[in-house]
Amino acid sequence: MIHVCLPVCSDDAEGALAELVAYQRDVDNHASYAERVKAADDAWTSRRGNKPIRVVREMLLAMCSGLGRCMYCEDSRAHDVEHVRPKALYPDLVFAWANFLYACSDCNGPKGAKFKVHMRDGRIFDVSRKRKAPPPVQLTVDDPLVLGEPLLLDPRCEDPLDFLRLDLDMGVFEEVPSAGLALERATFTIDLLGLNEREHLVEARQDTFQTAESVLGHYVSLKHEGAEPAAIAAKRQAIVRQPHRTVWEEMKRQRHAPGRAKLRALFEAAPEALHW
Ligand SMILES: [Zn+2]
Repeated sequence: MIHVCLPVCSDDAEGALAELVAYQRDVDNHASYAERVKAADDAWTSRRGNKPIRVVREMLLAMCSGLGRCMYCEDSRAHDVEHVRPKALYPDLVFAWANFLYACSDCNGPKGAKFKVHMRDGRIFDVSRKRKAPPPVQLTVDDPLVLGEPLLLDPRCEDPLDFLRLDLDMGVFEEVPSAGLALERATFTIDLLGLNEREHLVEARQDTFQTAESVLGHYVSLKHEGAEPAAIAAKRQAIVRQPHRTVWEEMKRQRHAPGRAKLRALFEAAPEALHW
Protein backbone atom coordinates (compact mmCIF):
# COMPACT_ATOMS: atom_id res chain seq x y z
CA MET A 1 0.00 0.00 0.00
CA ILE A 2 1.34 3.39 -0.94
CA HIS A 3 0.29 6.98 -0.42
CA VAL A 4 -2.05 8.08 -3.22
CA CYS A 5 -1.96 11.57 -4.67
CA LEU A 6 -5.12 13.51 -5.49
CA PRO A 7 -5.80 14.37 -9.16
CA VAL A 8 -5.96 17.87 -10.56
CA CYS A 9 -9.63 18.91 -10.53
CA SER A 10 -11.25 19.58 -13.94
CA ASP A 11 -14.58 21.38 -14.44
CA ASP A 12 -16.17 17.96 -14.92
CA ALA A 13 -14.74 16.80 -11.61
CA GLU A 14 -15.91 19.90 -9.76
CA GLY A 15 -19.43 19.42 -11.15
CA ALA A 16 -19.45 15.77 -10.08
CA LEU A 17 -18.27 16.60 -6.57
CA ALA A 18 -21.03 19.23 -6.24
CA GLU A 19 -23.57 16.58 -7.28
CA LEU A 20 -22.22 14.26 -4.60
CA VAL A 21 -22.85 16.93 -1.96
CA ALA A 22 -26.49 17.12 -3.11
CA TYR A 23 -26.79 13.29 -3.04
CA GLN A 24 -25.39 13.29 0.49
CA ARG A 25 -27.85 15.94 1.64
CA ASP A 26 -30.75 13.66 0.60
CA VAL A 27 -29.36 10.92 2.86
CA ASP A 28 -28.63 13.27 5.75
CA ASN A 29 -32.20 14.59 5.73
CA HIS A 30 -33.55 11.35 7.23
CA ALA A 31 -34.31 11.73 10.93
CA SER A 32 -32.92 8.58 12.56
CA TYR A 33 -29.56 6.86 12.21
CA ALA A 34 -31.27 3.61 11.15
CA GLU A 35 -33.17 5.47 8.43
CA ARG A 36 -29.96 7.13 7.23
CA VAL A 37 -28.21 3.75 7.01
CA LYS A 38 -31.03 2.41 4.83
CA ALA A 39 -31.21 5.61 2.75
CA ALA A 40 -27.44 5.49 2.17
CA ASP A 41 -27.62 1.90 0.96
CA ASP A 42 -30.60 2.59 -1.31
CA ALA A 43 -29.11 5.81 -2.69
CA TRP A 44 -25.75 4.18 -3.41
CA THR A 45 -27.44 1.29 -5.22
CA SER A 46 -29.63 3.54 -7.35
CA ARG A 47 -27.09 6.30 -8.05
CA ARG A 48 -23.74 4.55 -8.42
CA GLY A 49 -24.27 4.27 -12.19
CA ASN A 50 -25.02 8.00 -12.57
CA LYS A 51 -22.67 10.40 -14.32
CA PRO A 52 -21.18 11.99 -11.16
CA ILE A 53 -20.09 8.58 -9.88
CA ARG A 54 -18.72 7.68 -13.33
CA VAL A 55 -16.63 10.86 -13.24
CA VAL A 56 -15.47 10.00 -9.73
CA ARG A 57 -14.43 6.54 -10.94
CA GLU A 58 -12.22 8.17 -13.60
CA MET A 59 -10.67 10.43 -10.96
CA LEU A 60 -9.99 7.46 -8.68
CA LEU A 61 -8.56 5.43 -11.56
CA ALA A 62 -6.09 8.24 -12.25
CA MET A 63 -4.93 7.97 -8.63
CA CYS A 64 -4.18 4.21 -8.89
CA SER A 65 -0.67 2.87 -9.40
CA GLY A 66 0.41 0.83 -12.42
CA LEU A 67 -2.38 0.02 -14.84
CA GLY A 68 -5.25 0.92 -12.52
CA ARG A 69 -4.33 -1.40 -9.67
CA CYS A 70 -6.36 -1.76 -6.48
CA MET A 71 -5.19 0.76 -3.85
CA TYR A 72 -5.18 -1.94 -1.18
CA CYS A 73 -3.66 -5.12 -2.66
CA GLU A 74 -2.04 -3.49 -5.75
CA ASP A 75 -2.52 -6.79 -7.57
CA SER A 76 -5.92 -6.78 -9.29
CA ARG A 77 -7.52 -4.15 -11.48
CA ALA A 78 -9.58 -1.74 -9.36
CA HIS A 79 -13.24 -1.31 -10.26
CA ASP A 80 -15.13 -0.83 -6.97
CA VAL A 81 -15.56 2.57 -5.32
CA GLU A 82 -14.42 1.65 -1.83
CA HIS A 83 -15.65 3.50 1.26
CA VAL A 84 -12.77 3.73 3.76
CA ARG A 85 -15.36 4.21 6.52
CA PRO A 86 -17.99 1.61 5.54
CA LYS A 87 -21.24 3.10 4.29
CA ALA A 88 -23.24 0.66 6.45
CA LEU A 89 -21.67 2.28 9.54
CA TYR A 90 -21.17 5.85 8.31
CA PRO A 91 -24.18 6.82 6.14
CA ASP A 92 -23.10 10.46 6.48
CA LEU A 93 -20.03 9.62 4.36
CA VAL A 94 -21.62 7.49 1.63
CA PHE A 95 -21.09 10.20 -1.01
CA ALA A 96 -18.08 11.90 0.63
CA TRP A 97 -15.25 12.20 -1.90
CA ALA A 98 -12.66 12.14 0.89
CA ASN A 99 -13.95 8.71 1.96
CA PHE A 100 -13.39 7.07 -1.44
CA LEU A 101 -10.65 4.75 -2.64
CA TYR A 102 -10.59 2.48 -5.70
CA ALA A 103 -10.28 -1.22 -4.93
CA CYS A 104 -10.79 -4.67 -6.36
CA SER A 105 -13.75 -6.78 -5.26
CA ASP A 106 -11.42 -9.28 -3.53
CA CYS A 107 -10.40 -6.48 -1.14
CA ASN A 108 -13.67 -4.52 -1.00
CA GLY A 109 -16.01 -7.49 -0.48
CA PRO A 110 -14.45 -9.19 2.58
CA LYS A 111 -13.81 -5.82 4.26
CA GLY A 112 -17.55 -5.08 4.21
CA ALA A 113 -18.61 -3.42 7.45
CA LYS A 114 -15.67 -4.77 9.51
CA PHE A 115 -14.10 -1.81 11.26
CA LYS A 116 -12.31 -0.76 14.41
CA VAL A 117 -11.85 2.71 15.85
CA HIS A 118 -9.68 4.19 18.57
CA MET A 119 -10.69 6.81 21.10
CA ARG A 120 -8.65 9.73 22.43
CA ASP A 121 -8.05 7.85 25.69
CA GLY A 122 -6.47 4.97 23.76
CA ARG A 123 -9.37 2.50 23.98
CA ILE A 124 -10.08 0.51 20.82
CA PHE A 125 -13.59 -0.55 19.79
CA ASP A 126 -14.72 -3.08 17.22
CA VAL A 127 -17.66 -1.28 15.59
CA SER A 128 -18.24 -3.92 12.89
CA ARG A 129 -21.81 -4.83 12.04
CA LYS A 130 -22.83 -8.14 10.48
CA ARG A 131 -24.45 -7.82 7.06
CA LYS A 132 -28.03 -8.61 8.16
CA ALA A 133 -27.78 -7.05 11.64
CA PRO A 134 -30.11 -4.02 12.04
CA PRO A 135 -28.42 -0.73 12.97
CA PRO A 136 -29.45 1.03 16.18
CA VAL A 137 -32.22 3.61 15.70
CA GLN A 138 -30.03 6.42 17.02
CA LEU A 139 -26.39 6.73 18.06
CA THR A 140 -25.55 8.35 21.37
CA VAL A 141 -23.15 11.31 21.25
CA ASP A 142 -20.44 9.24 22.95
CA ASP A 143 -20.81 6.19 20.69
CA PRO A 144 -17.42 5.01 19.37
CA LEU A 145 -18.84 5.36 15.84
CA VAL A 146 -19.30 9.07 16.54
CA LEU A 147 -16.11 9.77 18.48
CA GLY A 148 -13.64 7.16 17.24
CA GLU A 149 -10.94 7.51 14.58
CA PRO A 150 -10.27 4.61 12.18
CA LEU A 151 -7.58 2.06 12.92
CA LEU A 152 -7.40 1.29 9.20
CA LEU A 153 -4.64 3.21 7.43
CA ASP A 154 -5.98 5.64 4.82
CA PRO A 155 -3.52 6.00 1.91
CA ARG A 156 -5.21 9.27 0.89
CA CYS A 157 -4.22 11.15 4.01
CA GLU A 158 -1.19 9.28 5.38
CA ASP A 159 1.71 7.26 4.02
CA PRO A 160 1.13 3.56 4.76
CA LEU A 161 4.89 3.00 4.48
CA ASP A 162 5.33 4.99 7.70
CA PHE A 163 3.55 2.05 9.34
CA LEU A 164 4.30 -0.91 7.05
CA ARG A 165 7.50 -2.34 5.65
CA LEU A 166 7.61 -4.93 2.88
CA ASP A 167 10.10 -7.78 3.22
CA LEU A 168 11.26 -7.89 -0.41
CA ASP A 169 12.50 -11.49 -0.28
CA MET A 170 9.54 -12.97 1.59
CA GLY A 171 6.87 -10.74 -0.01
CA VAL A 172 5.12 -10.08 3.32
CA PHE A 173 4.32 -6.88 5.18
CA GLU A 174 5.75 -6.22 8.63
CA GLU A 175 4.80 -3.54 11.11
CA VAL A 176 7.26 -0.61 11.38
CA PRO A 177 6.14 0.64 14.84
CA SER A 178 7.14 -1.58 17.75
CA ALA A 179 4.37 -0.59 20.17
CA GLY A 180 1.33 1.55 20.83
CA LEU A 181 -1.50 2.74 18.63
CA ALA A 182 0.66 2.91 15.49
CA LEU A 183 1.45 -0.81 15.87
CA GLU A 184 -2.27 -1.60 16.41
CA ARG A 185 -3.13 0.31 13.24
CA ALA A 186 -0.47 -1.44 11.16
CA THR A 187 -1.53 -4.90 12.38
CA PHE A 188 -5.23 -4.18 11.89
CA THR A 189 -4.65 -2.99 8.32
CA ILE A 190 -2.59 -6.07 7.38
CA ASP A 191 -5.19 -8.39 8.91
CA LEU A 192 -8.38 -6.67 7.72
CA LEU A 193 -7.18 -6.56 4.12
CA GLY A 194 -5.58 -10.02 4.23
CA LEU A 195 -2.35 -8.55 2.84
CA ASN A 196 -0.23 -11.46 4.09
CA GLU A 197 -2.89 -14.17 4.20
CA ARG A 198 -3.53 -14.31 0.47
CA GLU A 199 -0.72 -16.50 -0.81
CA HIS A 200 -0.97 -15.25 -4.41
CA LEU A 201 -0.27 -11.69 -3.23
CA VAL A 202 2.83 -12.81 -1.33
CA GLU A 203 4.15 -14.76 -4.33
CA ALA A 204 3.33 -11.93 -6.76
CA ARG A 205 5.34 -9.47 -4.63
CA GLN A 206 8.33 -11.83 -4.66
CA ASP A 207 8.07 -12.17 -8.46
CA THR A 208 7.64 -8.41 -8.89
CA PHE A 209 10.84 -7.76 -6.95
CA GLN A 210 12.83 -10.25 -9.06
CA THR A 211 11.44 -8.77 -12.29
CA ALA A 212 11.92 -5.13 -11.28
CA GLU A 213 15.55 -5.71 -10.23
CA SER A 214 16.24 -7.57 -13.48
CA VAL A 215 14.59 -4.92 -15.67
CA LEU A 216 16.46 -2.15 -13.85
CA GLY A 217 19.66 -4.07 -14.62
CA HIS A 218 18.72 -4.18 -18.31
CA TYR A 219 17.95 -0.46 -18.21
CA VAL A 220 21.40 0.31 -16.79
CA SER A 221 23.09 -1.90 -19.41
CA LEU A 222 21.21 -0.28 -22.29
CA LYS A 223 22.06 3.18 -20.96
CA HIS A 224 25.78 2.36 -20.79
CA GLU A 225 25.72 0.84 -24.26
CA GLY A 226 24.14 4.03 -25.64
CA ALA A 227 21.07 2.16 -26.90
CA GLU A 228 18.14 3.79 -28.68
CA PRO A 229 16.18 6.12 -26.35
CA ALA A 230 12.97 4.21 -27.14
CA ALA A 231 14.52 0.93 -25.97
CA ILE A 232 15.68 2.57 -22.72
CA ALA A 233 12.28 4.21 -22.18
CA ALA A 234 10.57 0.85 -22.65
CA LYS A 235 12.45 -0.53 -19.64
CA ARG A 236 11.32 2.40 -17.51
CA GLN A 237 7.74 1.87 -18.63
CA ALA A 238 7.94 -1.85 -17.84
CA ILE A 239 8.84 -0.99 -14.26
CA VAL A 240 6.27 1.75 -13.63
CA ARG A 241 3.48 -0.37 -15.13
CA GLN A 242 4.16 -3.32 -12.85
CA PRO A 243 1.55 -4.19 -10.24
CA HIS A 244 2.57 -4.11 -6.55
CA ARG A 245 3.93 -0.59 -6.60
CA THR A 246 5.00 -0.99 -2.96
CA VAL A 247 7.75 -3.33 -4.17
CA TRP A 248 9.33 -0.54 -6.21
CA GLU A 249 8.92 1.98 -3.39
CA GLU A 250 10.62 -0.43 -1.00
CA MET A 251 13.43 -1.15 -3.47
CA LYS A 252 14.21 2.57 -3.39
CA ARG A 253 13.80 2.87 0.37
CA GLN A 254 15.79 -0.28 1.24
CA ARG A 255 18.67 0.14 -1.23
CA HIS A 256 21.09 0.99 1.59
CA ALA A 257 20.02 -1.97 3.77
CA PRO A 258 22.52 -4.80 4.46
CA GLY A 259 22.56 -7.39 1.67
CA ARG A 260 21.27 -4.96 -0.97
CA ALA A 261 24.61 -4.08 -2.61
CA LYS A 262 23.31 -5.04 -6.06
CA LEU A 263 20.25 -2.86 -5.69
CA ARG A 264 22.33 0.02 -4.36
CA ALA A 265 24.71 -0.23 -7.32
CA LEU A 266 21.83 -0.21 -9.81
CA PHE A 267 20.33 2.96 -8.33
CA GLU A 268 23.78 4.58 -8.23
CA ALA A 269 24.12 3.81 -11.95
CA ALA A 270 20.61 5.11 -12.63
CA PRO A 271 19.81 7.76 -9.99
CA GLU A 272 16.94 9.03 -12.15
CA ALA A 273 15.11 5.80 -11.30
CA LEU A 274 14.69 7.07 -7.73
CA HIS A 275 12.09 9.50 -9.14
CA TRP A 276 10.03 6.89 -11.05
ZN1 LIG B 1 -7.39 -5.47 -4.01
